[in-house]
Amino acid sequence: MNYAENILGTIGHTPLVKLNKVVKGIDALVLAKVETFNPGNSTKDRMALKMVEDAEADGRLKPGGTIIEGTSGNTGMGLALAAIVKGYKCIFVITDKQSKEKMDILRAVGAKVIVCPTDVEPTDPRSYYSVSKRLSTEIPNSWYVNQYDNPSNALAHYQQTGPEIWEQTDGKVTHFVVGVGTGGTISGIGKYLKEQNPNVKVWGIDTYGSVFKKYHETGIFDENEIYSYITEGIGEDILPKNVDFSVIDGFTKVTDKDAAVYTRKIALEEGIFVGNSAGACVKGLHQLKEHFGPNDVVVVLFHDSGSRYVGKMFNDDWMRERGFLEEEITKAEDVIKD
Ligand code: PMP
Repeated sequence: MNYAENILGTIGHTPLVKLNKVVKGIDALVLAKVETFNPGNSTKDRMALKMVEDAEADGRLKPGGTIIEGTSGNTGMGLALAAIVKGYKCIFVITDKQSKEKMDILRAVGAKVIVCPTDVEPTDPRSYYSVSKRLSTEIPNSWYVNQYDNPSNALAHYQQTGPEIWEQTDGKVTHFVVGVGTGGTISGIGKYLKEQNPNVKVWGIDTYGSVFKKYHETGIFDENEIYSYITEGIGEDILPKNVDFSVIDGFTKVTDKDAAVYTRKIALEEGIFVGNSAGACVKGLHQLKEHFGPNDVVVVLFHDSGSRYVGKMFNDDWMRERGFLEEEITKAEDVIKD
């Protein structure tokens, strides 16, 4: 018989899939690491389990404890799966920018979800950083995960995702491109790949409204770079400890509209139903295309599932209200032709 002991045993070993139409015009082999295949439908299952296991090992998380985290949803899902199997409670603090689907999904796996305003300073007592920290001091036998600064986050990708990409490409990967939020994914995978081959180039995808690109290029933390944006999961108004700028060769910023449009294109042109940051990554690949050549093997990581965005990028009214729909279907013959 071949079965997993529990759902946590199905994390990892996700497929690498060649992108065909959506990367037309890019002169390289482009392969997507489709992390939707994890049981919680995102790459975050890997680091969530690793953070829980490491906290259990050194006593930060004790039997019957409560896991507290500020999470945009995907990390919460991974933590909730680990908590169910291992017998912990979960409280997740999330911002009002996150999709309703993400909140509903977290509640479906037994977590208590607290919603905080997006447009406040990280140091404001109402911010999701501040609320999660405060709750962890007030609730007995609780553990504040802090995925931004928790080294187990990047370590999970260094130990699992990086080696998977190296093996799946037979060591031929030349570039790695991924969206950056906490920095765990880019830093762990980037470090591993560069240790195998220092010539591998690592590019981060950033958003307009985030500090990463400017900081990487100038060393300046410029508050003028910070404003609200729509793209979920990537970009920050802080510098998380998990972003290891030394393994990142460069950043490119992608607009909210381009990220949304490309998220839909990936579904329509490749049949890969993935989330908003994947759209940002594919548009980012086009912006970076002069860095790639015909012998290059470019790996791009798709973080999460499109199902979390059905009320947003995959909803025509939502797209139209923001001026994101490329073209309207107005003529009857167009509808009939389809
Ligand atoms: N995409 C999505 C959808 C995410 O949830 C996250 C995590 N914030 C990222 C990209 C960025 O990953 P990381 O936090 O490892 O930098």
